[in-house]
Amino acid sequence: MKYISTRGTAPELTFQDAMLTGLARDGGLYVPAEIPTLSAEEIRALGGLSYEETCFRVMWPFLGGTFTEEEFRGCIARAYAGFGHAARAPLVQLAPNHFLLELFHGPTLAFKDFAMQLIGQLFQCALSKTGQKITIVGATSGDTGSAAIEAFRGLDNVDVFILFPHGRVSDVQRRQMTTPEDANVHALAVDGDFDTCQARVKDMFNDFAFRDEVGLAGVNSINWARVLAQVVYYFTSAVSLGAPDREISFTVPTGNFGDIFAGYIAKKMGLPIGKLVVATNQNDILHRCLTTGEYKPDGVVPSISPSMDIQVSSNFERALFDALGRDGKAVAQLMDELKAGGFTVPQGALQALQELFTSGRCSEEETRATIARLRETTGELLCPHSAVAVKVAEELRDPATPMITLATAHPAKFPDAVEAASGIRPGLPPRMADLFDKEERVTRVADDLAAIEALVRDRRRA
Ligand SMILES: *Cc1c(COP(=O)(O)O)cnc(C)c1O
Repeated sequence: MKYISTRGTAPELTFQDAMLTGLARDGGLYVPAEIPTLSAEEIRALGGLSYEETCFRVMWPFLGGTFTEEEFRGCIARAYAGFGHAARAPLVQLAPNHFLLELFHGPTLAFKDFAMQLIGQLFQCALSKTGQKITIVGATSGDTGSAAIEAFRGLDNVDVFILFPHGRVSDVQRRQMTTPEDANVHALAVDGDFDTCQARVKDMFNDFAFRDEVGLAGVNSINWARVLAQVVYYFTSAVSLGAPDREISFTVPTGNFGDIFAGYIAKKMGLPIGKLVVATNQNDILHRCLTTGEYKPDGVVPSISPSMDIQVSSNFERALFDALGRDGKAVAQLMDELKAGGFTVPQGALQALQELFTSGRCSEEETRATIARLRETTGELLCPHSAVAVKVAEELRDPATPMITLATAHPAKFPDAVEAASGIRPGLPPRMADLFDKEERVTRVADDLAAIEALVRDRRRA
């Protein structure tokens, strides 16, 4: 199994190298040279299996010999042992043929734990064989950072630096990043928004001298291993509702396009997915692009669903790559145009994208109203991201096809917004009730690449 870059010129890599590298050296993202498929029979056989066993069967064909079966099974077992729900990703019914997939039972209460906990284990397994030391640098709009810190804290061969937009993450999100005491954890509050943080991380990866000096590794949602880990719950949930003998649709609250892209991979692997609905908040660049073909960032407007406050949606490049017939040169050209302000998806590619993805937008008002209404009609208290998706799913779903809407965070991660909308203040699960008693450790930094690189050099322990 080989991995190729969406911009066509970086060297082909194995799964292990694609996982440890993150961003390709030509600025592109790694994707498998081809997508393995599961037959209807193999998919049917997933019925009734544990989350862990399904994880093994779905991911194994992509790993290309990086790990032994026994190593990989061990990583999976350790990754999900700390989840607060035996099903890992339980499904709850909201209405006839509308289901909510609860992806917030991991250690930091967001779906990012599914991928991050697993790649923490995979990194450790790979690095312990080579003795290599690495520096993980990641940008976060709130949830990736805490999930990465939780997955890599205390590891000997790894330092973790997380850049988050100062003042733009919730108190719970910030505290999850700033309160771990491990010496290898470094939280950096950057003066800027999420796109700024993500741009500086990309700059560090493109500074090859720095990249090699500190052994830079990326765990942002551009990391292929993360996307792959997220493919698993599309299978577990769809199979529990009757796939492969029945079509199932999904709605995904979308920011960086990682989670929805995992759904696209599940579909390419053979899972009969009907609609794949991209749900955005008021930062609706993806909805506009999928509707008109114009991709023109015009500034992030902070919302009550901050993990989706994104205008430069990294994983969209992977979808574009396929829609453009895997023409890396064409992708590179559009990405150059993006640097200069925006691009227009060529007509044929837009049509290809529209056949795969449907999209909708949910305003702040609608998000609050949906939180309140679902609480009344179902008893389910939604986080604002999940509410965005439920609203869009209700609008776009076909009543005859089961719709699974992804609930990406626990409401207690966004207590102020949830309380303002519903009058109910969601409490943290008991296992993290002391979060507000702990001391915070954070470094404020300007939006200055040289200063951030100096800080990384200085703080890393290797
Ligand atoms: C990261 C995140 C999203 C967006 O996921 P993408 O993979 O970036 O599209 C949605 N909701 C929550 C709670 C998140 O943390």
